[in-house]
Amino acid sequence: MSSAPIYLDYAATTPVDPQVAQAMAECLTAAGDFGNPSSVHAYGRAAAERIARARGQVAALVGARPADVVFTSGATESNNLAILGAARANADRGRHLVTSRTEHKSVLDPFRRLEKEGFEVTWLTPGPEGRIEPRAFAAALRADTVLAALMYANNETGVLGDVPAIGALCRERGVAFHTDCAQAAGKIPLALGELPVDFAAFTAHKLYGPKGIGALYVRDGARGLLQALSYGGGQERSLRPGTLPTHQIVGFGAACALAARELPGEGPRIRALRERLWQALEALGDTYLNGAGTERLPGILNVSFAGVHGESLIGALPGLAVSSGSACNSQSAEPSYVLRALGRSTQLAQSSLRFSLGRCTTASEVDAAAAAVSVAVQRLRALSPGSPSARGHRNGWAAGAGPGTLVAGEAGGQGEETWVRFELLVSGDTVKEARFQAFACPHTMEVAAWLCGALRGRSRRALVPGTPDAWAKEHAVPAEKLGRLLRLEDALSACLAHWT
Ligand SMILES: *Cc1c(COP(=O)(O)O)cnc(C)c1O
Repeated sequence: MSSAPIYLDYAATTPVDPQVAQAMAECLTAAGDFGNPSSVHAYGRAAAERIARARGQVAALVGARPADVVFTSGATESNNLAILGAARANADRGRHLVTSRTEHKSVLDPFRRLEKEGFEVTWLTPGPEGRIEPRAFAAALRADTVLAALMYANNETGVLGDVPAIGALCRERGVAFHTDCAQAAGKIPLALGELPVDFAAFTAHKLYGPKGIGALYVRDGARGLLQALSYGGGQERSLRPGTLPTHQIVGFGAACALAARELPGEGPRIRALRERLWQALEALGDTYLNGAGTERLPGILNVSFAGVHGESLIGALPGLAVSSGSACNSQSAEPSYVLRALGRSTQLAQSSLRFSLGRCTTASEVDAAAAAVSVAVQRLRALSPGSPSARGHRNGWAAGAGPGTLVAGEAGGQGEETWVRFELLVSGDTVKEARFQAFACPHTMEVAAWLCGALRGRSRRALVPGTPDAWAKEHAVPAEKLGRLLRLEDALSACLAHWT
């Protein structure tokens, strides 16, 4: 029986609400408002009216004036426009910028780009709870600081930044201030017009709207602090020229109106489900709530499970759609830089899962997810370093393996990204049984398990079956992970060294 996996990845994206899809469909065909909103005829005016209404709906959700909303393709573009646009427009006043290490990539990368253009960036590291202290922020500001950025809510942990205090510090010092609200909008009440914020980024697809549309909030009077990144027809106050995509904007507006209506009920409901999930996971023991003890979004729960590799855990949970803090399947094998910045060890950062709950999440889904995670964590912990249950039974000695000598060898550190230990039960010159323990990605685990089978019956001289290269081919291990398989070879070599 295979049913659809339980979706607990609403922080990655959300499904489009059917009412939103309906509103979008009304702006596409000849029967609908398909006109160019810049045209002065009736078709154009109908589309322009739709867009004006949507602009009002977006503005209302975030506590802004409709005139402050600049439509873009999403939060990535909005972050780029605010950061590159404000830094370059003010470069003659100063070339120093301030931000946090735990921002979204679409904030980090424009700042890195500006470093290449000769700007100097101060990268702040949050405290163990995930927040930048206003005092630390104030200390980073200089006479030549022209721009600072701090996200409203973090996408991995849900931790809220102290935007009111830090925005106020910027305003006092005449520093332009940008905040990435992609995760916060529609999840908690926002009143941008009452905050010391110059620019803010939004995206529709995190709040049940379509992908490919978002907005940049530009405070009344802050337009002059920005320079455009593209040039064209003058739309969106010349900050984002190009024909406005009526259907996308109408979908974004409808999603915002719906979010505003649902927020008072959905916030508490989702927070209660998140607490229910955490209580079930906490009962497993040796689990850590990332961002505990500070204000967070209601729908995000980020948990580290000691001794269990996040990607291996996801691999063991086919019935669950969640994200892990490690990026095993991407080019970089880096553990979450957000969790590392919070002071988690490499292994704990790599042992994390992000559960994000949303509008369709039910209590029975939460219970089923918690039960599945518990089973998988217990199973993987039985294979992992330092776990008491690891001795004895995991791929345990087969009954009747008979007497023999135990030979063990390991490679990698227990604090490192990969750690593996082989234990061989040998008799004379022959391996009778082999077993392993590891903290490693799913590919490494799979090859280790296969090796244990292949080692049985091998002689000391021919202990290592093939080369890591051949193992990689056999198990379709991506090239960038070959280095991890070398750890397996190292551990087998260590066994040989102890086999006397
Ligand atoms: C999703 C997200 C973005 C990027 O938004 P897109 O519209 O997908 O480009 C930026 N910042 C944060 C915090 C996000 O969660």
